[in-house]
Amino acid sequence: MAEDTAIFHSTRATTPTCTAKQAIRQGIAEDGGLFVADTLGSTRYDISKLQGKSYQEIAKDILQILLPDYSQEELSDCVKLAYADQWSNSDITPIRQLGNTRDFVMELFHGPTCAFKDVALQMLPQLMSRSQNKTEKSESNNNQNVMILTATSGDTGKAALAGFADVPGTSMVTFYPEGKVSRVQELQMTTQAGKNVQVCAVRGNFDDAQTGVKQIFTNSELNKNIEESSNTELSSANSINVGRLVPQVVYYFAAYKQLVERKAIALGDEVEFCVPTGNFGDILAGYYAKMLGLPVKHLIVASNSNNVLFDFLVSGTYNRQRPFHHTVAPSMDILVSSNLERMLYYMCDKDTRLIQMLMNDLAQWGAFEIPENVLAKIRAIFGCGWANEDQIREAISDCWNKYKYVIDPHTACGYFVMQHIPHDENAPRVLLSTASPYKFPRVVAEALGLKNVQNMDDFQCMDALSEATGTKAPSMLRELENKTPRFTDVIDISQMPSYVQTQANNFAK
Ligand SMILES: *Cc1c(COP(=O)(O)O)cnc(C)c1O
Repeated sequence: MAEDTAIFHSTRATTPTCTAKQAIRQGIAEDGGLFVADTLGSTRYDISKLQGKSYQEIAKDILQILLPDYSQEELSDCVKLAYADQWSNSDITPIRQLGNTRDFVMELFHGPTCAFKDVALQMLPQLMSRSQNKTEKSESNNNQNVMILTATSGDTGKAALAGFADVPGTSMVTFYPEGKVSRVQELQMTTQAGKNVQVCAVRGNFDDAQTGVKQIFTNSELNKNIEESSNTELSSANSINVGRLVPQVVYYFAAYKQLVERKAIALGDEVEFCVPTGNFGDILAGYYAKMLGLPVKHLIVASNSNNVLFDFLVSGTYNRQRPFHHTVAPSMDILVSSNLERMLYYMCDKDTRLIQMLMNDLAQWGAFEIPENVLAKIRAIFGCGWANEDQIREAISDCWNKYKYVIDPHTACGYFVMQHIPHDENAPRVLLSTASPYKFPRVVAEALGLKNVQNMDDFQCMDALSEATGTKAPSMLRELENKTPRFTDVIDISQMPSYVQTQANNFAK
């Protein structure tokens, strides 16, 4: 392996370094930091090459720059498998214009689970499956399997299952809290196909399930047993993984290409992006795109009532000590936006000691404050706003009334923010739409003022929404009603370790 591809290191220390493959397999750095590469920005992507390229071709180009130790052939295979006919739109992430405005929506929800996480989670398993560097591994570790463990409050688990299903060298177990996810979410998971996946309900809430998974990762005896009995190592698929971040950079370029093709902009013109934000992965990818040379004027962070990022971007103080709100945009109900650490790293001139200090403060005091000059640099690029519960509903109804376009509650946060913050009329804006409205049919139907919603189940809400708006529910969601679950296990939290051991043995057979 050529030395110069070991370009990744922790945000909290400059050594040790590793390759993209190692970073993807490992997920998080040993010191708790996130993997970053100091080469980001040194290779630019020539945007004049975008024209005429398919999403898949752009993906290959971008991945090659950001993951240089994967071969061209490996990346071709990954892209071919990740962005094939499991997508219901051949542009993968098509854009639509809102009326005659300079505002556009990029639909990130045409993947197999109808949410934006598919863009990354269709790719990550392919990258992980090719992440083992055989020449570096000892004989006995050859062909070691990776088993992904997740605890999910509903959506991420399904997107990960769909991505890992039947990918060679990988397997996956997902735990979800019994009775705490919607019927649609539960059916999405329990009907998942694939020989290498397992879904299990646990008696407890989401935090219990998540703590259970974390304890399994740090249980060295269990990890050793699993490795010895089934040649399997445990890993996670969470959104700080380089292999989830990098695929998201691609659609910023794809949006730009579509704007040029529609003659909404000339090549080289600047564009703004507005991003419904939770863990800061989606919008961070926009920053990476800018570093790669995409003409991005501003990136606007849109939050819900968990507006910790808004306060941070206004004041320079990140304070997680605040009430946690369960909102109608649940995938953005987050108080610690993990991927922010990467943005801070680049914005403070790659000062690993400063990052280490800030993250210590966060762990110890629940808050940190960044220097004023760093805040000024961040604010030159990142704008922000947030929407409360009423404003989310208002936004869904406003967008429908004005543009006859139906949006989901997460996208609605972004829509609300776009309508209310000042902007340069010349630069077109692209709102990233992160979920199909049919994933949240009840909230959307209520926001549109449909009658009798309270007496309907989720599938009836889908039908009512369909009828009222003339749009069609994605068949993957609508057809769940008549599907029979494959997975029916329910266990106690205390049984999780032995459950994982048993599954690892089963998958290894
Ligand atoms: C995960 C998610 C988000 C937040 O994205 P981050 O990358 O975590 O900021 C927004 N909307 C939906 C529907 C999501 O699933």
